[in-house]
This record gives sequence, C-alpha cells and structure tokens, in this order.
Amino acid sequence: MNYFEYREGEMYAEDAKISDIAESVGTPFYLYSSASLAYQYNQFKDAFGDLDLLLCYAVKANTNQAVIKTLADLGAGADVVSEGEMRRALTAGVPPTKIVYSGVAKTVREMTFALKQGIYQFNVESEPELYQLSEVAENLGKTADITFRVNPDVDAKTHAKISTGKSENKFGVPWKATRELCALAAKLPGINLVGLDLHIGSQITELEPFEAAFTRITSLVETLREDGNDISRVDLGGGLGIPYEGDDFPPLPKEYAEMVRRVMSHLNCQIIIEPGRFLVGNAGILVSQVVYVKKGEEREFLIIDAAMNDLVRPSMYDAYHGIVPLKESDADSVLYDVVGPVCETGDTFATNRLITPMKSGEYLAIRSVGAYGAVMSSTYNTRPLIPEVLVKNDEFAVVRPRPSYDDIIGLDQLAPWLSE
Ligand SMILES: *Cc1c(COP(=O)(O)O)cnc(C)c1O
Repeated sequence: MNYFEYREGEMYAEDAKISDIAESVGTPFYLYSSASLAYQYNQFKDAFGDLDLLLCYAVKANTNQAVIKTLADLGAGADVVSEGEMRRALTAGVPPTKIVYSGVAKTVREMTFALKQGIYQFNVESEPELYQLSEVAENLGKTADITFRVNPDVDAKTHAKISTGKSENKFGVPWKATRELCALAAKLPGINLVGLDLHIGSQITELEPFEAAFTRITSLVETLREDGNDISRVDLGGGLGIPYEGDDFPPLPKEYAEMVRRVMSHLNCQIIIEPGRFLVGNAGILVSQVVYVKKGEEREFLIIDAAMNDLVRPSMYDAYHGIVPLKESDADSVLYDVVGPVCETGDTFATNRLITPMKSGEYLAIRSVGAYGAVMSSTYNTRPLIPEVLVKNDEFAVVRPRPSYDDIIGLDQLAPWLSE
C-alpha cells in the first residue's frame, strides 16, 4: 500500500495535502504516515498467525518518539542497541518485558541500566560480554535472560556495509562455538540461557539467505536441547528488504513467515523478529524545495534545500530513492542531477534522473526515507536538523521541531582561556 499519492495533481500523505504542510512547517522536513506504519506492522503480525510471535521494532531505523509510540500502541516491542535507544523505547511506552537488547559493545553501565529495568533479553555477542554480564547481574542480585547471537556464516547478498552474518563480520559468536558457549553459560551464576538469536543483515531481498541461516539455527537448537539446555526462544533478527525502485519486489512477510513456519515450527519456540526498515522505510518521505535550477555544461542540476546531512543514504550506500514533484505534470520528463547545498560532490541524491520539469520554489518528495533517514542526520555545514512530521488521516503534527541556530551554536562552550 502506498499512502503518498497524487489526487487531482497534488501529492497527498493519507488525506493531508503535502504542499500545505510544507507552507506551514517550512522545508526541508521528514513526513511519516501513521497508516503506513500500521499497515506494515499488521502485515507481519497477520503473517505469523497462530505462531507465538514477539515483534520487536528495531528502533534504530527511526527513533522518533511518535513513531515508536505508534508501533508500541499496536503491540510492538523494541529491539535496541544502546542505553539511549532503551530509554527512548521506555519513554515511548514500550514495556521493558518487550525489549530485547542487541549490540557487540554493551558496557557495564548499559547492562546495569537494562537489568534494573528488567528487560526481556540480552542478545549476547561474545564470551567476554557473557562473563561481564554475569558479573554485573550477580552484583545486582539478578539473573540475565540471554540468547547467543549466532553468526551463521551466510551471505545475505546485500550491500557490504549492511551485511552482518558472514564469519568475517564483527557480529555474533561463531556458530561452531555456540555449543561450548552454552555449556559455559549454564555454569555462570548471573546468566539464564533462553534461546538463540541471529541477524544477518539489512535490505535483504531474497528468502534464500534467511532460510539458510534459519535452518542452521534450527539444528543448533536441536543440538542444544539434546545437550540438556532449555531453549524456548529463537530471535530471527530483522533485515527484510523494501522496494526502493518500482521494479524490485522483495519477499513479503507472508512468504517469510511461511518459510519460518516450515523450517522451525516443530521447535515450538517463541519466535522473536526485529524488523526495522520494513516497518518504517516506505512510511516516510523527505519534502524539499528547489532552490535553483542550474544548467551546467553537460548536465542540468536541481539544487534543493535538503542535503546529505539530512539524508546520507545516497552518498553512504549509493542508495536509490525515488524523487517526484509534489505537483503532477503532463510535461515530458527531463534528465536532472538532484543535488544539495553541502560543499561535497557526494552531496548528490540522484544523477541523470528523469523528472518532469521543475522551477525554483517548487516542492519535491524523496521517497522511502522513513528508515535510516532522520536517525543518521547531522548538523554538518551548521544546518539545523530538519523537522519530523507525522500525518494521521487529514491531520498532521510536528513530532520534532526544527532547532534554532542559537540552539545549535549554543551547544559549544569556550575554553576558560578563551572566554575573557
Ligand atoms: C539493524 C538491526 C535490525 C533491523 O534491521 P532492518 O534491516 O532495519 O530490519 C534488527 N536487529 C539487529 C540486531 C540490528 O542490528
């Protein structure tokens, strides 16, 4: 389902006219659709049917309180990778009993905070982390429910920077070492082993890598049970891809869930999934205004008021994002390079892109930016972080305001010897 569509030549988000929001909020800004979030969430929920499922939204994809709350109200838990994210999830109303905690570098401080909150599980990624967690838990008089994040050594066939399940990646424990680590975990006082976990990468567009990894983890669970371990949960991570270009169709949650059922329903484990991008990616657009149309010697540039500091995916991952004017046009499309104001050639959103002719002052939308968009933004070039806006039906609300220049500059302090 697409909740950003033209109606009589003007693009709407649900029932709200986007150019009206742009006039009110000022560009650039992120715009999210509540209905899209709910639709994506329900696809996963429905796909798993009667299986015992805990869906933990990977909040790193989009940590806005309003986004987390929208999903939490639907029943989502949270997958977090830092104390900050844990605090965000808790503040947005996610119960601690639905929070799972991943990450290779959990610190004593973070472990302590998580144990005091009583989170659902730690996904442990190494032997030193296991010892550390046991010690912290014991000192607090608690036991930590843990899974081991297994590195299944499969190729997720995605961009190298977001591939996490190969043996050369820093994530998880080698699958061949899992059995031994579980035996160790059984002896540690602060640890209660409850399951296994994996996460092989992001923007995965085929089922095969998932199936290879899930098959491996299923047989590991069988082995561990034979060894006498009480394994009741399997956490499958996130990673299901979304369409960015019109012509690629990643597997749907329905197909993914059918495969999960086929591979591991006989284990009778609780299944935890940690989707991030799938829930929020296509629920967001970035609205920007054309500042200048510049004719270069060989190319025509649409210079817009959004930049790589607002959305880094094109320069960081060579990511493709659809770009469309808010006003529909019958004119023949022309080739543009769409670029931002930042002083780097990498500040390019698209090259040689067919778009209907645009003039300075007109608005456009960069699509599919709900995931890894706002969260990865920075104030490079002293550009204030851009607002985030949430739409529901015909209503909209600013869910993160634009900071002032004083806000940004005021974060710096002079050293004592400079402040006479
Ligand atoms: C990033 C991450 C996710 C979410 O990945 P998506 O591709 O956004 O679904 C889930 N689990 C872990 C451990 C992650 O690091």
